[in-house]
Amino acid sequence: MATIVDTAPASALFVEKTPLERYVAPDKPSLVGLSRAALAEALGGVGVPERQRKMRVQQLWHWIYVRGTQDFDAMTSVSKELRSVLDTHFTLARPDVVAEQISVDGTRKWLLRLPGETPGERPHEVECVYIPDDGRATLCVSSQVGCTLTCTFCHTGTQRLVRNLTPGEIVGQLMVARDRLGDWPRAAEASEPRAEDGRLVSNIVMMGMGEPLYNFENVRDALLVVADGDGLSISKRRITLSTSGVVPNISRTGAEIGVMLAVSLHAVRDELRNELVPLNRKYPIQQLLEACRNYPGASNAKRITFEYVMLKGINDSIDDAKALVRLLKGIPAKINLIPFNPWPGTKYECSDWDQIEKFSEVVFNAGYASPVRTPRGRDILAACGQLKSETEKLSARERMALRAMAMTE
Ligand code: SAH
Ligand code: SF4
Repeated sequence: MATIVDTAPASALFVEKTPLERYVAPDKPSLVGLSRAALAEALGGVGVPERQRKMRVQQLWHWIYVRGTQDFDAMTSVSKELRSVLDTHFTLARPDVVAEQISVDGTRKWLLRLPGETPGERPHEVECVYIPDDGRATLCVSSQVGCTLTCTFCHTGTQRLVRNLTPGEIVGQLMVARDRLGDWPRAAEASEPRAEDGRLVSNIVMMGMGEPLYNFENVRDALLVVADGDGLSISKRRITLSTSGVVPNISRTGAEIGVMLAVSLHAVRDELRNELVPLNRKYPIQQLLEACRNYPGASNAKRITFEYVMLKGINDSIDDAKALVRLLKGIPAKINLIPFNPWPGTKYECSDWDQIEKFSEVVFNAGYASPVRTPRGRDILAACGQLKSETEKLSARERMALRAMAMTE
């Protein structure tokens, strides 16, 4: 758990937590989330000869990621013998769904159970939220149990970092959504190339629990599986990764993953950002914006989203709005104003609606879209709210859904 020592020089400030646990693979691991190379290796490990592996990988890829098959026996193009070998050594398991909530407006939330390091001890939970909208639907995905960082307005920031999610657990969130929504093609359609917009889940945002750029390799490997055009097939332009500003991994995100970038800015001055997003002490605003200016692939057609949480009396003045516009000059940017979602014990309040509108107007007049959306799924959030005092987790879920909703424009 991090301690922040305010008297230390900025470079020595410790703002990152270390994971409490490692992921321990079960004896019979799931093939879900494996890349082609990892699948080939897994097949090699159970005796599939090298010359057959490429073809077998193609077959498995199709069954796992195009058809969403949950049972080796259904893989009719794979020999019976290999199916039985696979069944002995592997599963096609996704994270267990322990709760599902469905809003009248179609928003759905799934609470997923993930194994802890020590068998028999309390498992961990993360949430995944599905938000349908006009002609699109966004899935908000988590990258860690807890978070490496300590943003003061974020409830996850006050919690411990338990562990990083594996690629399988990240890809598994999309698999669960498609399972639950019946979003796999029917057998007759499965061999046809599918139009991207024929899918229910059309967009992914890495905006759930955790800081994706502190779990870089697993997030990268997972998103490359998710974006594979012969598999899950969510185009990279429809995947947005949100970071609080892990500068060294921003260019890697562009170069090695190639998805859309969102940056949690939240303040226009280092002094305030140091407080709200303590990682700013390590990577201050100018360094962060420089990394954004150089983000591979950013253009007017592929803008970087800057997220700005509206905190009453803290960062919501008209001067802040003007400074925000000045700060982003020259960067192909969109601004996403997020109404602060309060949690028990927080010292912050959400800006008044009036103030959000005034702020939004400045941003809008400067040519930035500033979608401040009416939250979706209010009914199921309200249900969560009623249970708020029972566990921290429920209120964390509520916040996550709101954030995801703010992101869908
Ligand atoms: N760790 C990443 C992604 C997850 S958080 C990041 O920080 O970008 C997703 C978004 O929700 C971020 O912009 C984050 O700053 C914002 N957020 C966190 N807590 C919030 C709250 N209580 N109300 C509104 N937005 C919040
Ligand atoms: Fe982590 Fe993002 Fe929350 Fe900051 S805002 S503590 S980086 S989840």
